[in-house]
Amino acid sequence: MANTDTCPKCGSTEIISELQIRGGDGHPPYIQISEPEPPNRPFIWSPKFERSQFTASVCGSCGHTEFYAVNYKA
Ligand SMILES: [Zn+2]
Repeated sequence: MANTDTCPKCGSTEIISELQIRGGDGHPPYIQISEPEPPNRPFIWSPKFERSQFTASVCGSCGHTEFYAVNYKA
């Protein structure tokens, strides 16, 4: 986790990190990471998908928000 303790926008150290992102109706937002197609694509090949939710770090001074994917390693 590459959380920083200093806001890149305003330099404040009032960072609230590891906030969980809440979605509506039981469907929290997530990103879908797909495996890139290999150069020598086998005849039978399908990309692997990985879903990841986010945590967020919010600057308590200016509101700048960074999102971190929880499950970012393929
Ligand atoms: Zn800030």
